[in-house]
Amino acid sequence: MQSFDQIVIGGGPGGLALAYGLKAAGKNVAIVEENLWGGTCPNRGCDPKKILVAAVEAKRHAEQLAHAGLDGTTTINWPDLMRNKFAYTDAIPDDTLQGLQHSEITTFYGHAAFTSAGHLAVGEETLTAAQFILATGQRPVRPAIDGAQLLQTSTDFLNWRQLPKQIAFIGGGYIAFELADIANAAGADVHVILRHDRALRAFDAELVKDLRDQLAKAGVHFHENVTLTKVAKTSTGIELTGDQQFDLTVAAAVAATGRIANVDTLNLEAVGVSADRHGVVVNDHLQTTNEHIYALGDVVAKKSIPKLTPVAGFEARYLTDTLTGAHSEAIQYPAIPTVVFGMPRLAQVGVSPAETTTTTDRRVKALDMTHWYTYQRIHDPLAKVKVVLDRQGRLVGASALSTIADELINYLTALINQGATVADVNNQIMAYPTPASDLSYLF
Ligand code: FAD
Ligand code: NDP
Repeated sequence: MQSFDQIVIGGGPGGLALAYGLKAAGKNVAIVEENLWGGTCPNRGCDPKKILVAAVEAKRHAEQLAHAGLDGTTTINWPDLMRNKFAYTDAIPDDTLQGLQHSEITTFYGHAAFTSAGHLAVGEETLTAAQFILATGQRPVRPAIDGAQLLQTSTDFLNWRQLPKQIAFIGGGYIAFELADIANAAGADVHVILRHDRALRAFDAELVKDLRDQLAKAGVHFHENVTLTKVAKTSTGIELTGDQQFDLTVAAAVAATGRIANVDTLNLEAVGVSADRHGVVVNDHLQTTNEHIYALGDVVAKKSIPKLTPVAGFEARYLTDTLTGAHSEAIQYPAIPTVVFGMPRLAQVGVSPAETTTTTDRRVKALDMTHWYTYQRIHDPLAKVKVVLDRQGRLVGASALSTIADELINYLTALINQGATVADVNNQIMAYPTPASDLSYLF
């Protein structure tokens, strides 16, 4: 039986960052992975998606500058684009494993499950450790309707070598919006089916509506307030049936209806760890209901904390310090930015404008920058920013919708986390002409 100081279960961004952190601090650490080393983000999430988004950006900019120096006739060749994606993703698992081996972190490949307190089985091996860390992430979930197994997922989409001619996305979250934008730009006939008329709930409602309308203008068909009741395979494709007499047949349908935590096959009952489909219950030290077992990243059940790669990384840094005794404080998250990556991008950090209407001590400064030079130079169709200020004039939240909203929100995040005031922003000299240099005009 092999014994370690710590065993990390899950070789995604969170588990990897923690394993490297513990090793650097001199710990005897092992990491277990059952699928692709690197986890969701680089293999079937953020990174491959953003490779596809790059082509959408180039196409949209070329189209926007049609008759302004470019001929505007850019076509996305899906098989070529995917070859470019595979050239990146195919190398990830081996490169990741080699990195671990190079750092002399012990690796195990296989499904991990607890057998009893302090004992973990991986295949034929039984391992022990003083502490275990659950970093097992999430997987896509399909709606509980007849024929749901016919629905594909974001993982399937990111492996399509041919683009189906007609595609439906079910759901109104990050994945539906991002993948619909990509598929539409690549030439598919795209439908988004939402069970209500409020998509992307974590984001500012007005900006979500602007984004939805922009995608609709670009050709995406939105079907709001439709509850699907059945999925069936017919001779012409995948038939989706719903209330309101909804009936649509497509070549492929993708469930973009959220993700559930990978907790059900870890045998957590054997070690007294509380968990459900939303994830593992942890305290303010990321410690589970078993004091020897911690959790981080997407598998953690924390409603107020978004499940994103940089959050997993932040928690890994926090746990490295906790498990090496460098500190004993409770985790404190900074303001966390989040972005829907499309053309345009929708971004949000900190207090939202909606939370502001219910209080009197905050105010919102909103600017429609669509006709400003920064955006008109590239004929961008939409550019809006909203900043939330507290009574002392400190920035406490921001929302943005534009082709560069992702970079702008990072800048605003840094200001928010440093407690910057309007005066601090106005005292900066920013490189001009850039989106950040526009911000001084906000106040
Ligand atoms: P994961 O990356 O999911 O890694 C968990 C690992 O644990 C997996 O490799 C899994 O195989 C392994 N595992 C599970 N159970 C076991 C077991 N019992 N034994 C052994 N191994 C096990 N986030 C962003 O910040 N920006 C984005 O743009 C973004 N885009 C995304 C796009 C898509 C389509 C998706 C699906 C997600 C996206 N995310 C994005 C979210 C991001 O991928 C996750 O937040 C991040 O990967 C979480 O890291 P993690 O280490 O917690 O989990
Ligand atoms: P989200 O949680 O973002 O959205 C799920 C959507 O599906 C919501 O609109 C929800 O509606 C709807 N829905 C849920 N259940 C059903 C159902 N049974 N029938 C119909 N609609 C349903 O999930 P995604 O799958 O889009 O993304 C999963 C996670 O992946 C994200 O939360 C995020 O953590 C991560 N991610 C991050 C990205 C980024 O950072 N850019 C990109 C992609 C993924 P309702 O609002 O009513 O619940």
